[in-house]
Amino acid sequence: MNTETQISDFNLSSDLLTLPPLPLDRLEKVEAWGMNTAKMGYVYRPTTAEGITEVFAFAKNHGLKVGLRGAGRSYGDASLNGEHVTLDLTRMNRILEWNPKTGVISVEPGTTLRQLWQYIVGDGWWVPVVTGTMYVTLGGMLGMNTHGKNNYCSGPIGDHVLEFDFLLPTGETKTCSREQNSELFYAAISSFGMLGCFTRITLQMKKVYSGLLEVDAYTTQTFGEIIEKFAAQRDKADYLVGWIDCFAKGEKMGRGQVHEARYLKPGEDPNPEQTLRIENQELPDTLFGVLPKSVMWRFIKPVSNNFGMKLLNAAKFFASNTLGNGKTIRQSHAGFAFLLDYVPNWKWVYKPGGLIQYQSFVPEETAEACFTAQMEACHRAGIIPYLGVFKRHREDDFLISHAVKGYSFALDFPVTKRNKVALWKLCREMDRIVLDAGGRFYFAKDSTLTPEVAEAYLGKATLEKLFALKRDCDPDNLLMTDLARRLFGERLC
Ligand SMILES: Cc1cc2nc3c(=O)[nH]c(=O)nc-3n(C[C@H](O)[C@H](O)[C@H](O)COP(=O)(O)OP(=O)(O)OC[C@H]3O[C@@H](n4cnc5c(N)ncnc54)[C@H](O)[C@@H]3O)c2cc1C
Repeated sequence: MNTETQISDFNLSSDLLTLPPLPLDRLEKVEAWGMNTAKMGYVYRPTTAEGITEVFAFAKNHGLKVGLRGAGRSYGDASLNGEHVTLDLTRMNRILEWNPKTGVISVEPGTTLRQLWQYIVGDGWWVPVVTGTMYVTLGGMLGMNTHGKNNYCSGPIGDHVLEFDFLLPTGETKTCSREQNSELFYAAISSFGMLGCFTRITLQMKKVYSGLLEVDAYTTQTFGEIIEKFAAQRDKADYLVGWIDCFAKGEKMGRGQVHEARYLKPGEDPNPEQTLRIENQELPDTLFGVLPKSVMWRFIKPVSNNFGMKLLNAAKFFASNTLGNGKTIRQSHAGFAFLLDYVPNWKWVYKPGGLIQYQSFVPEETAEACFTAQMEACHRAGIIPYLGVFKRHREDDFLISHAVKGYSFALDFPVTKRNKVALWKLCREMDRIVLDAGGRFYFAKDSTLTPEVAEAYLGKATLEKLFALKRDCDPDNLLMTDLARRLFGERLC
């Protein structure tokens, strides 16, 4: 035990690898971002690829599985690995190469989206696909093949990856691109940490001519109308995102607000050097210039119940419909993209039970009926999502894909002791509605899917391909997470 405590920088000697005792000082509680589940496990934070190999060898020696973890921003159990080893990659966060002429950048997997945009923005570049929070890592983004508010026109993050080094649990490193090891390229991106570990990622950034976007906001009254607007604007807008008031029923069901943004063309911004500076992108620390945003969640907490949230949603719709409807503003890239970072730790509002997100992706032909049926099921069950977010998507070429040519609807549900059983039952009912509509799901957001539902939307052939690659890349079946156990169990071996 004492000798084990010296394994702080991962220079494990082969002697130590053969020692049977497990390092109790490495035991930590690892929590899902949605706070509805947490597990104890042995956490290692290597800083080099050699350090990762040593942890793989150590785990194998002790008969343990290894779960890869970036910033732990997946809502559910995707980066948990209870009672086994968690390989936390956040210390591998160096920017390795940057070419401001071509916009090509190479980074380590623990580099966050925040580090990335802050590094490149002053040179007139932006990250082509960003998530609603900037606190994710590039390794985690590739693990899930994340999408942004521009998924319908820019595809997922994988579409902007040029090349990566992929360290297999066997100790072998494969360099993958569309030309080299291409099958692995399209599978490693999206395979939720089951095949190997990204250790170096090279991406193409997007040229921008201003630090600002032109943003239009308008309200819509039904699911049909929001779908119509998205369809009409998709060739004109660079980003589209909708908010839905999930408490609205009957004729008002599906009412919400759309934000549509476009990049400025060269010459449209009189002072791009200014607007591209980091300080003009950063989100403000205070609200109205006085109230520290770090305490904001405490003000929301008292209204985080059905009654309070119904009022808040209705007030937001009313304000959007009267003050904000048809308004055009110029907003920074970061300000538009990272809306969910405005109120730090807002998820604490959902304590103690936490939250889950239920996001379904449905083809355009069936989307309106499917989302209406989902909302009706929520109202019948008396469990209403506090937040609903609407996006447009396109299909992609990666092995484990959540996207469809259609729309997604992401629903944030509070989890309480009282509603948990009924909420999981509601998710089962919504799964059926989504499958009947030809829809898909997304492991980054998932907490409730069953093996049957996962197989139904991914298909047997895709799963067989994943299992075969897993046998090739990870013959000892070292890589595992709680999500993979829940959905695929022994079949992944
Ligand atoms: C507030 C909020 C907003 C979000 N908005 C969006 C959004 O707009 N669009 C979207 O697509 N997602 C969104 N997400 C989900 C989030 O982008 C994904 O869950 C993402 O994978 C999180 O990255 P992470 O670094 O935290 O990875 P983790 O959650 O730690 O891990 C994600 C997966 O990647 C694997 N992994 C991690 N590192 C590596 C590596 N180096 N090599 C191989 N596999 C690895 C893990 O095993 C796990 O399966 C949001 C999440 C939050 C909390």
